[in-house]
Amino acid sequence: MISYLNGKFLKKNDIYISPDDRGFLMSDGIYEVIRSYQGHLFQSQQHIHRLNAGADALQFKQTNFEVLIEIAEELIKINNLSHKDSTVYMQITRGSVPRSHRFPSLETPLTIYVDTKEFFPKMEEIKNGVSAILVPDQRWCRCNIKSISLLANTMAHQQAIESGAQEAIFLRNGFLTEGSHTNVFLVKNNIVITPPKSNYILSGITREVLLDCCHDLHIPVEERPVVEKELFEADELMIVGTTVEVTPVIKLNHQTINKGTSGLITTKLYEHFKTTKLYHDQQ
Ligand code: PLP
Repeated sequence: MISYLNGKFLKKNDIYISPDDRGFLMSDGIYEVIRSYQGHLFQSQQHIHRLNAGADALQFKQTNFEVLIEIAEELIKINNLSHKDSTVYMQITRGSVPRSHRFPSLETPLTIYVDTKEFFPKMEEIKNGVSAILVPDQRWCRCNIKSISLLANTMAHQQAIESGAQEAIFLRNGFLTEGSHTNVFLVKNNIVITPPKSNYILSGITREVLLDCCHDLHIPVEERPVVEKELFEADELMIVGTTVEVTPVIKLNHQTINKGTSGLITTKLYEHFKTTKLYHDQQ
């Protein structure tokens, strides 16, 4: 497979990153994961916009990465993924310099890496749902930045896997924030509810698409704080994200939600989400 590093398209096996890279030493970087459906990038502008905002928030010397869309498209072609589903991974770090807490000088180039791989969606989970567990949100307070520092997310996700669940859902001071790699929506009395954008959640691209789907389908939405009890009392619960798309949660801490099946509104939203992708594919 061919990947991209700092201006060059190279065989992935020939790519080496310096041990002085600030991503390696300090998690001083940001990333994006973009889906490609049959070779067409989905919501690429929105992903790049979020990447740019992250670079700006972290005071990177470059804050416009529009060019990475062309690089991603090139990688999809070179790697024969034009007729397959794939994911594009982009990572930017503050570059390689001898370790120090202070930022490197402005001459230090950022490390820019882009990679693609074929992606196989978990259709069984999208159709029949997954289990989730609730865990305390032990992350920092700038979760709106898509930082490569994912320790709290991976610890939580691993805890879910080891308890037989597929996702960990974070609670901060009794309030729902999001999943380890997903945003969370619930349905109560035919109203779709999700926590509002803040520094405590990642502003998910799929979250925005889902809100648009609700609008298209005239489903009322409330973006408001959600307390723990509401999750257990929800008529339907779902996780949404680039890789899981719209996946029903049918068990929470071993308590069954919606009789253990995907709900009507979740199914409707997923069906509409699919047409959004199709529409996008024809562009
Ligand atoms: N929340 C977190 C913590 C994530 O890591 C992700 C995706 O990786 C999401 C939400 C969903 O975001 P998106 O829909 O942009 O993939």
